Amino acid sequence: MMRAALNLIGEEATLVVWLTDLLMDYQAIIEEIHGEALALKGQGRVATYIPALAAVDPARFGIAIETIDGGIFAVGDAAEKFSIQSISKVFNLALGISLVGDELWHRVGMEPSGNAFNSLVQLEVENGLPRNPFINAGALVVTDVLLDHLKRPNEEMLNFVRKLRCSEIFYNEEVAASEKATGFTNTALVNFMKSYGNIHHEVDEVLDVYCHQCSIEMTCAGLCRSFLFLANGGVVPGSGERVLTSSQTKRINAIMLTCGFYDEAGQFAYRVGMPGKSGVGGGIVAVIPGELAIAVWSPELNDRGNSVIGMHALEQFTSRTGMSIF
Ligand code: GLU
Repeated sequence: MMRAALNLIGEEATLVVWLTDLLMDYQAIIEEIHGEALALKGQGRVATYIPALAAVDPARFGIAIETIDGGIFAVGDAAEKFSIQSISKVFNLALGISLVGDELWHRVGMEPSGNAFNSLVQLEVENGLPRNPFINAGALVVTDVLLDHLKRPNEEMLNFVRKLRCSEIFYNEEVAASEKATGFTNTALVNFMKSYGNIHHEVDEVLDVYCHQCSIEMTCAGLCRSFLFLANGGVVPGSGERVLTSSQTKRINAIMLTCGFYDEAGQFAYRVGMPGKSGVGGGIVAVIPGELAIAVWSPELNDRGNSVIGMHALEQFTSRTGMSIF
């Protein structure tokens, strides 16, 4: 808000970020939102199609914020780990782009799909080229790209996220196995794309790496920290390490805005106004470039697969602070 009003650049902008944090009592704001949003409990349903996810307590609810200048704010279950599921598609894409750059776009598109995240329909019409990296088909192709370049993709993925200053990160082997054993649609997607030559590796190998990515467990606080590089032009705040160029970062943010929320990205942009990504574990993480990352976890989902309380809380955040990318 301050930033937009003063419209400053360079060093003065850093001062404005600092002033914004000073004037904006993020802790009070998220506590208020947390208290009020509890009233929405019971309006959604926990995802059950992956058996290991069905056991999650629907009452869990946490919110965290980390600003690029190091402010940390948290409320509720913000320090509890949950299955990040499709949020991992952002790490997958970032790692893929860091390995092959724009070449990646020869194998996956960058348009919203307008279809379910696991749809097979569009793939047939579009000759095995997935619409974008955040639907399952697209993430499976990006996973195949990782396999083209990495000897131990499962290990390298965790190392990549650790580079984002998130050291406490692991796979949940039970969730990975549960998804692999029941992921018949994902298996169909990989086979289908392989028939078009857009999968180079063994179907089982691609599914194994993909299911491990989805099984990553993180906290709201950890998600904020690991997404901060996307709010900071590709540089990890704190370590100063550049993970992506600013142009690559802009592209990932653009794709999060247009494709990050299943078939509800328009609704999310309209109501919330931040690029981000959700997962069927009930997590949502979003960024305001130049400012912060915010994550919410509440496992009850709407019929599109997005957390009901998560969307509401983020809408309240941008409404109350006047901050968004628009
Ligand atoms: N592992 C899930 C699947 O492939 C990810 C779903 C999601 O979070 O969107 O079906």
